[in-house]
Amino acid sequence: MHAIGVDIGGTKIAAGVVDDDGAILAKLRRDTDPDEPGQIERAVVELVGELRRDFEVAAVGVAAAGFVSSDRATVMFAPNIAWRDYPLRERVAPFIDVPVVVENDANAAGWAEFRYGAGRGVQDMVMLTIGTGLGGAIVVGGQLLRGAHGVAAEIGHVRMVPDGHMCGCGHEGCWEQYASGRALTRQARAAAVANPERAAALLALAGGEPKKIKGPYVTEVAQAGDELGIELLAELGEWIGVGAASLTAVLDPAAIVVGGGVCAAGDLLLDPIREAFGNALSARGHRPEPRILLAEMQNDAGIVGAADLART
Ligand code: ADP
Ligand code: ZN
Repeated sequence: MHAIGVDIGGTKIAAGVVDDDGAILAKLRRDTDPDEPGQIERAVVELVGELRRDFEVAAVGVAAAGFVSSDRATVMFAPNIAWRDYPLRERVAPFIDVPVVVENDANAAGWAEFRYGAGRGVQDMVMLTIGTGLGGAIVVGGQLLRGAHGVAAEIGHVRMVPDGHMCGCGHEGCWEQYASGRALTRQARAAAVANPERAAALLALAGGEPKKIKGPYVTEVAQAGDELGIELLAELGEWIGVGAASLTAVLDPAAIVVGGGVCAAGDLLLDPIREAFGNALSARGHRPEPRILLAEMQNDAGIVGAADLART
Protein backbone atom coordinates (compact mmCIF):
# COMPACT_ATOMS: atom_id res chain seq x y z
CA MET A 1 0.00 0.00 0.00
CA HIS A 2 1.67 3.20 -1.14
CA ALA A 3 1.54 6.38 0.89
CA ILE A 4 2.78 9.92 0.37
CA GLY A 5 5.15 11.59 2.79
CA VAL A 6 5.54 15.36 2.77
CA ASP A 7 8.44 17.04 4.55
CA ILE A 8 7.91 20.74 5.24
CA GLY A 9 11.23 22.47 5.87
CA GLY A 10 11.97 26.11 6.61
CA THR A 11 12.39 27.07 2.97
CA LYS A 12 11.22 24.09 0.94
CA ILE A 13 8.71 21.28 0.79
CA ALA A 14 9.59 17.80 -0.47
CA ALA A 15 7.02 15.11 -1.13
CA GLY A 16 7.38 11.53 -2.23
CA VAL A 17 5.45 8.34 -2.90
CA VAL A 18 6.70 5.59 -0.58
CA ASP A 19 6.11 1.88 -1.05
CA ASP A 20 5.82 -0.85 1.62
CA ASP A 21 9.57 -1.42 1.62
CA GLY A 22 10.30 2.22 2.36
CA ALA A 23 11.47 3.00 -1.17
CA ILE A 24 10.63 6.36 -2.73
CA LEU A 25 9.02 5.80 -6.12
CA ALA A 26 8.68 9.45 -7.10
CA LYS A 27 9.61 12.74 -5.52
CA LEU A 28 8.86 16.43 -6.00
CA ARG A 29 10.00 19.57 -4.27
CA ARG A 30 9.04 23.21 -4.10
CA ASP A 31 10.44 26.34 -2.47
CA THR A 32 8.26 28.07 0.11
CA ASP A 33 8.13 31.13 2.31
CA PRO A 34 8.02 30.26 6.02
CA ASP A 35 5.96 33.38 6.73
CA GLU A 36 3.13 32.32 4.44
CA PRO A 37 1.17 29.39 5.88
CA GLY A 38 -1.39 29.68 3.08
CA GLN A 39 1.27 29.23 0.43
CA ILE A 40 2.71 26.24 2.30
CA GLU A 41 -0.68 24.54 2.42
CA ARG A 42 -1.37 25.13 -1.24
CA ALA A 43 2.02 23.66 -2.09
CA VAL A 44 1.28 20.55 0.02
CA VAL A 45 -2.07 20.03 -1.72
CA GLU A 46 -0.57 20.59 -5.17
CA LEU A 47 2.37 18.26 -4.66
CA VAL A 48 0.09 15.53 -3.34
CA GLY A 49 -2.24 16.05 -6.30
CA GLU A 50 0.62 15.79 -8.78
CA LEU A 51 2.00 12.61 -7.25
CA ARG A 52 -1.43 11.03 -7.15
CA ARG A 53 -1.85 11.41 -10.88
CA ASP A 54 0.59 8.54 -11.33
CA PHE A 55 0.20 6.55 -8.11
CA GLU A 56 -2.62 5.11 -6.07
CA VAL A 57 -2.00 5.98 -2.42
CA ALA A 58 -3.79 5.08 0.81
CA ALA A 59 -2.74 7.94 3.07
CA VAL A 60 -0.70 11.12 3.37
CA GLY A 61 1.69 11.99 6.20
CA VAL A 62 2.90 15.57 6.59
CA ALA A 63 6.02 16.15 8.69
CA ALA A 64 7.13 19.51 10.03
CA ALA A 65 9.42 20.83 12.75
CA GLY A 66 7.37 21.74 15.79
CA PHE A 67 5.04 20.51 18.50
CA VAL A 68 2.33 18.36 16.93
CA SER A 69 -0.74 17.38 18.96
CA SER A 70 -1.16 13.70 19.84
CA ASP A 71 -4.20 13.43 17.53
CA ARG A 72 -1.79 14.26 14.70
CA ALA A 73 -3.82 17.25 13.54
CA THR A 74 -2.57 20.52 15.03
CA VAL A 75 0.83 22.17 15.04
CA MET A 76 0.84 23.77 18.47
CA PHE A 77 4.08 25.63 17.87
CA ALA A 78 6.68 25.73 15.11
CA PRO A 79 10.06 27.38 15.59
CA ASN A 80 10.61 28.29 11.91
CA ILE A 81 7.13 28.73 10.45
CA ALA A 82 4.38 31.12 11.47
CA TRP A 83 2.19 28.39 13.04
CA ARG A 84 0.68 28.79 16.52
CA ASP A 85 -2.07 26.30 17.46
CA TYR A 86 -2.47 25.83 13.76
CA PRO A 87 -5.00 23.26 12.49
CA LEU A 88 -2.76 22.06 9.66
CA ARG A 89 -4.61 18.80 9.00
CA GLU A 90 -7.95 20.60 8.78
CA ARG A 91 -6.45 23.09 6.35
CA VAL A 92 -5.25 20.50 3.83
CA ALA A 93 -7.45 17.41 4.38
CA PRO A 94 -10.56 18.76 2.56
CA PHE A 95 -8.52 18.87 -0.65
CA ILE A 96 -7.05 15.38 -0.28
CA ASP A 97 -9.51 12.50 -0.34
CA VAL A 98 -7.42 9.98 1.62
CA PRO A 99 -6.59 10.18 5.36
CA VAL A 100 -4.01 12.83 6.29
CA VAL A 101 -1.91 12.96 9.47
CA VAL A 102 0.60 15.51 10.72
CA GLU A 103 3.81 14.34 12.38
CA ASN A 104 6.84 15.96 13.99
CA ASP A 105 9.75 15.84 11.53
CA ALA A 106 12.28 14.31 13.92
CA ASN A 107 9.78 11.62 14.89
CA ALA A 108 9.16 10.89 11.22
CA ALA A 109 12.89 10.61 10.48
CA GLY A 110 13.45 8.37 13.51
CA TRP A 111 10.53 6.18 12.51
CA ALA A 112 12.07 5.70 9.07
CA GLU A 113 15.32 4.51 10.68
CA PHE A 114 13.35 2.18 12.92
CA ARG A 115 11.34 0.66 10.09
CA TYR A 116 13.83 0.61 7.23
CA GLY A 117 17.22 1.86 8.39
CA ALA A 118 19.78 1.20 11.12
CA GLY A 119 17.09 0.39 13.70
CA ARG A 120 15.25 -2.29 11.76
CA GLY A 121 15.02 -5.50 13.75
CA VAL A 122 14.95 -3.86 17.20
CA GLN A 123 11.88 -2.89 19.17
CA ASP A 124 13.42 -0.19 21.35
CA MET A 125 15.44 2.57 19.73
CA VAL A 126 16.57 6.11 20.29
CA MET A 127 17.38 8.33 17.33
CA LEU A 128 19.67 11.32 17.78
CA THR A 129 19.67 13.70 14.83
CA ILE A 130 22.76 15.89 14.99
CA GLY A 131 21.96 18.61 12.48
CA THR A 132 21.90 22.35 13.01
CA GLY A 133 20.22 21.49 16.31
CA LEU A 134 19.69 18.20 18.13
CA GLY A 135 16.49 16.33 17.34
CA GLY A 136 15.28 13.05 18.68
CA ALA A 137 12.83 10.23 18.33
CA ILE A 138 12.13 7.40 20.72
CA VAL A 139 10.61 4.02 19.90
CA VAL A 140 9.48 1.89 22.84
CA GLY A 141 8.18 -1.62 22.31
CA GLY A 142 7.81 -0.99 18.59
CA GLN A 143 5.72 2.16 19.14
CA LEU A 144 6.69 5.77 18.65
CA LEU A 145 6.78 7.49 22.03
CA ARG A 146 4.47 10.48 21.68
CA GLY A 147 3.86 11.36 25.33
CA ALA A 148 0.58 12.59 26.79
CA HIS A 149 0.34 15.61 24.49
CA GLY A 150 2.32 14.57 21.44
CA VAL A 151 5.49 16.44 22.30
CA ALA A 152 7.75 13.73 23.75
CA ALA A 153 11.36 13.10 22.71
CA GLU A 154 12.43 16.75 22.55
CA ILE A 155 15.77 15.50 23.78
CA GLY A 156 17.71 18.54 22.57
CA HIS A 157 16.23 20.49 25.46
CA VAL A 158 17.30 18.29 28.32
CA ARG A 159 19.35 20.58 30.53
CA MET A 160 22.96 19.46 30.65
CA VAL A 161 24.83 22.50 31.95
CA PRO A 162 23.56 24.80 34.73
CA ASP A 163 23.93 28.40 33.53
CA GLY A 164 25.26 27.11 30.23
CA HIS A 165 24.86 28.50 26.71
CA MET A 166 21.54 30.18 25.98
CA CYS A 167 19.18 28.08 23.86
CA GLY A 168 16.57 29.22 21.36
CA CYS A 169 13.94 27.60 23.58
CA GLY A 170 14.44 30.26 26.23
CA HIS A 171 16.57 28.30 28.68
CA GLU A 172 20.25 27.83 29.33
CA GLY A 173 22.44 24.78 29.06
CA CYS A 174 20.25 22.61 26.84
CA TRP A 175 21.96 19.51 25.41
CA GLU A 176 21.45 20.93 21.91
CA GLN A 177 23.83 23.78 22.73
CA TYR A 178 26.64 21.22 23.14
CA ALA A 179 25.67 18.37 20.83
CA SER A 180 24.80 19.87 17.45
CA GLY A 181 26.27 21.25 14.27
CA ARG A 182 25.86 24.74 15.69
CA ALA A 183 27.87 23.75 18.76
CA LEU A 184 30.60 22.33 16.55
CA THR A 185 30.95 25.52 14.54
CA ARG A 186 30.79 27.68 17.68
CA GLN A 187 33.64 25.73 19.24
CA ALA A 188 35.65 25.68 16.04
CA ARG A 189 35.36 29.45 15.63
CA ALA A 190 36.29 30.04 19.27
CA ALA A 191 39.33 27.79 18.89
CA ALA A 192 40.42 29.70 15.79
CA VAL A 193 40.15 33.04 17.59
CA ALA A 194 41.99 31.76 20.64
CA ASN A 195 44.81 30.07 18.75
CA PRO A 196 44.98 30.86 15.02
CA GLU A 197 48.19 28.91 14.63
CA ARG A 198 46.64 25.69 15.81
CA ALA A 199 43.61 26.37 13.60
CA ALA A 200 45.69 27.04 10.48
CA ALA A 201 44.12 24.26 8.44
CA LEU A 202 40.58 25.32 9.38
CA LEU A 203 41.32 28.96 8.72
CA ALA A 204 42.81 28.16 5.33
CA LEU A 205 39.45 26.69 4.27
CA ALA A 206 37.59 29.67 5.74
CA GLY A 207 39.61 32.30 3.91
CA GLY A 208 41.33 33.27 7.14
CA GLU A 209 38.13 34.37 8.88
CA PRO A 210 37.10 32.46 12.00
CA LYS A 211 33.44 33.33 11.55
CA LYS A 212 33.41 31.68 8.16
CA ILE A 213 34.36 28.28 9.58
CA LYS A 214 31.68 25.69 8.84
CA GLY A 215 30.97 22.21 10.15
CA PRO A 216 32.11 20.39 6.99
CA TYR A 217 35.50 22.12 7.22
CA VAL A 218 36.06 20.53 10.61
CA THR A 219 35.43 17.07 9.17
CA GLU A 220 37.59 17.80 6.15
CA VAL A 221 40.65 18.80 8.17
CA ALA A 222 40.09 16.03 10.74
CA GLN A 223 40.01 13.44 7.97
CA ALA A 224 43.36 14.78 6.80
CA GLY A 225 44.75 14.25 10.31
CA ASP A 226 44.49 17.79 11.71
CA GLU A 227 44.78 17.65 15.49
CA LEU A 228 42.34 20.45 16.25
CA GLY A 229 39.72 19.07 13.86
CA ILE A 230 39.94 15.64 15.47
CA GLU A 231 39.70 17.21 18.91
CA LEU A 232 36.63 19.30 18.02
CA LEU A 233 34.78 16.23 16.77
CA ALA A 234 35.88 14.28 19.84
CA GLU A 235 34.56 17.01 22.11
CA LEU A 236 31.24 17.00 20.27
CA GLY A 237 31.14 13.21 20.45
CA GLU A 238 31.73 13.32 24.17
CA TRP A 239 28.68 15.50 24.75
CA ILE A 240 26.60 13.20 22.59
CA GLY A 241 27.86 10.06 24.32
CA VAL A 242 27.29 11.36 27.84
CA GLY A 243 23.73 12.39 27.01
CA ALA A 244 23.09 9.06 25.29
CA ALA A 245 24.16 7.27 28.47
CA SER A 246 21.59 9.28 30.46
CA LEU A 247 18.88 8.40 27.96
CA THR A 248 19.92 4.77 28.25
CA ALA A 249 19.47 4.93 32.03
CA VAL A 250 15.87 5.98 31.39
CA LEU A 251 14.92 3.96 28.33
CA ASP A 252 17.22 0.91 28.02
CA PRO A 253 17.14 0.91 24.21
CA ALA A 254 18.57 -1.87 22.02
CA ALA A 255 19.97 0.64 19.54
CA ILE A 256 20.95 4.30 19.51
CA VAL A 257 20.99 5.60 15.96
CA VAL A 258 22.97 8.75 15.25
CA GLY A 259 22.07 10.77 12.15
CA GLY A 260 21.99 14.33 10.80
CA GLY A 261 24.44 16.35 8.74
CA VAL A 262 27.28 16.19 11.26
CA CYS A 263 27.38 12.39 10.90
CA ALA A 264 29.29 12.85 7.66
CA ALA A 265 32.23 12.79 10.10
CA GLY A 266 31.60 9.04 10.53
CA ASP A 267 33.94 7.24 12.93
CA LEU A 268 35.69 10.48 13.85
CA LEU A 269 32.45 11.26 15.67
CA LEU A 270 31.15 7.76 16.44
CA ASP A 271 34.28 6.50 18.20
CA PRO A 272 34.30 9.36 20.74
CA ILE A 273 30.55 8.92 21.21
CA ARG A 274 31.03 5.24 22.00
CA GLU A 275 33.88 5.91 24.36
CA ALA A 276 32.10 8.64 26.31
CA PHE A 277 28.95 6.56 26.36
CA GLY A 278 30.80 3.63 27.89
CA ASN A 279 32.46 5.79 30.51
CA ALA A 280 29.20 7.45 31.49
CA LEU A 281 26.90 4.43 31.49
CA SER A 282 25.76 3.49 34.97
CA ALA A 283 26.62 0.00 36.23
CA ARG A 284 28.60 -0.80 33.12
CA GLY A 285 29.48 -4.48 32.90
CA HIS A 286 26.33 -5.46 34.75
CA ARG A 287 23.88 -4.73 31.97
CA PRO A 288 23.43 -5.35 28.26
CA GLU A 289 24.27 -2.25 26.24
CA PRO A 290 22.62 -0.68 23.22
CA ARG A 291 24.44 -0.69 19.94
CA ILE A 292 25.41 2.79 18.76
CA LEU A 293 24.92 2.97 15.01
CA LEU A 294 25.16 5.48 12.20
CA ALA A 295 21.86 6.30 10.54
CA GLU A 296 21.33 4.65 7.16
CA MET A 297 18.52 6.70 5.67
CA GLN A 298 19.62 9.83 3.92
CA ASN A 299 17.86 13.18 3.58
CA ASP A 300 14.61 11.52 2.63
CA ALA A 301 14.02 9.95 6.04
CA GLY A 302 11.33 12.53 6.87
CA ILE A 303 9.35 11.68 3.74
CA VAL A 304 9.64 7.93 4.28
CA GLY A 305 8.77 8.10 7.97
CA ALA A 306 5.81 10.44 7.52
CA ALA A 307 4.39 8.23 4.78
CA ASP A 308 4.79 5.09 6.84
CA LEU A 309 3.30 6.65 9.98
CA ALA A 310 0.31 7.73 7.90
CA ARG A 311 -0.54 4.14 6.96
CA THR A 312 0.02 2.65 10.43
P1 ADP B 1 19.37 20.68 9.35
O1 ADP B 1 19.60 20.35 10.76
O2 ADP B 1 19.41 22.15 9.10
O3 ADP B 1 18.18 20.00 8.77
P2 ADP B 1 21.64 19.00 8.52
O4 ADP B 1 21.15 17.75 9.16
O5 ADP B 1 22.22 18.91 7.16
O6 ADP B 1 20.58 20.16 8.44
O7 ADP B 1 22.77 19.59 9.50
C1 ADP B 1 23.38 20.80 9.29
C2 ADP B 1 24.52 20.96 10.29
O8 ADP B 1 25.47 19.92 10.07
C3 ADP B 1 25.26 22.27 10.17
O9 ADP B 1 25.54 22.77 11.46
C4 ADP B 1 26.56 21.88 9.45
O10 ADP B 1 27.63 22.70 9.85
C5 ADP B 1 26.77 20.48 9.91
N1 ADP B 1 27.46 19.66 8.93
C6 ADP B 1 27.08 19.41 7.66
N2 ADP B 1 27.98 18.63 7.04
C7 ADP B 1 28.95 18.39 7.93
C8 ADP B 1 30.17 17.65 7.90
N3 ADP B 1 30.59 17.04 6.79
N4 ADP B 1 30.91 17.61 9.03
C9 ADP B 1 30.53 18.26 10.15
N5 ADP B 1 29.39 18.97 10.23
C10 ADP B 1 28.62 19.04 9.16
ZN1 ZN C 1 16.58 24.43 24.69
